[in-house]
Amino acid sequence: DTRHGAVLYLDDITVSFDGFRALNKLTLDISVGELRCIIGPNGAGKTTMMDVITGKARPTSGSAFFGQTLDLAKMTETEIAHAGIGRKFQRPTVFEQHTVFENLELAMKMDKRVRPTLFARLTSEQEDRIAATLRQIRLHGQEDRLAGLLSHGQKQWLEIGMLLMQEPQLILLDEPVAGMSDAETARTAELLNELRGKHSIMVVEHDMGFVAEIAQQGKVTVLHEGSVLAEGRMDDVQADERVIEVYLGR
Ligand code: ADP
Repeated sequence: DTRHGAVLYLDDITVSFDGFRALNKLTLDISVGELRCIIGPNGAGKTTMMDVITGKARPTSGSAFFGQTLDLAKMTETEIAHAGIGRKFQRPTVFEQHTVFENLELAMKMDKRVRPTLFARLTSEQEDRIAATLRQIRLHGQEDRLAGLLSHGQKQWLEIGMLLMQEPQLILLDEPVAGMSDAETARTAELLNELRGKHSIMVVEHDMGFVAEIAQQGKVTVLHEGSVLAEGRMDDVQADERVIEVYLGR
């Protein structure tokens, strides 16, 4: 049973839009603590796959399991979010009028387990968690700055920190380094490599240099026409004739 030890198991998923298959018998599983990169040309089905995982799109057939028991196809988007799947979209959506610290605090208090204490003073344990996250996302010392004044890269890190504050079981990142400088991209790779093993993360990304940096110890999945074309170590995937053909369009 491939679900054993998996945080996510997509089993033979098809999503049809008026007969067109955006996903076509897609099977994929993510282990607990894994950092998985998903690549593939435009139209491969990457966004649709993330939409299925978060409940925004419904499978026409197949099943999607979260953890050992939860059937994602039977849950609403809100239920899925509360069950512990956090998604970060391409554009940063931080609270620009609040400080970096307040953004992390708000993210923590949005968690339904913490929300009843929205107006309560932070406990020292909560303060420690925020401080640890600030260091993790490279914003230590910037906590009193307004989020709106951060660079694009810093905003992306802050949003990753906001996801971490909610302690998700699975984090989905959609093109996290789009629009970042080379230095910011390199630091994001460091950050994600530090999160490996502690969190289960799926990254959809077009920047192959970045993918190479974060895929060294993990697996890469190549999607094409709604299915898995290749999966394995970056070196093997890069050398795969079918992958080369799809990317070079020969
Ligand atoms: P990617 O994110 O890999 O670029 P998408 O998942 O966005 O791929 O799209 C896969 C295919 O499904 C594309 O051909 C796209 O045009 C089609 N598609 C996606 N969403 C819809 C929709 N809501 N209605 C019709 N076609 C869609």
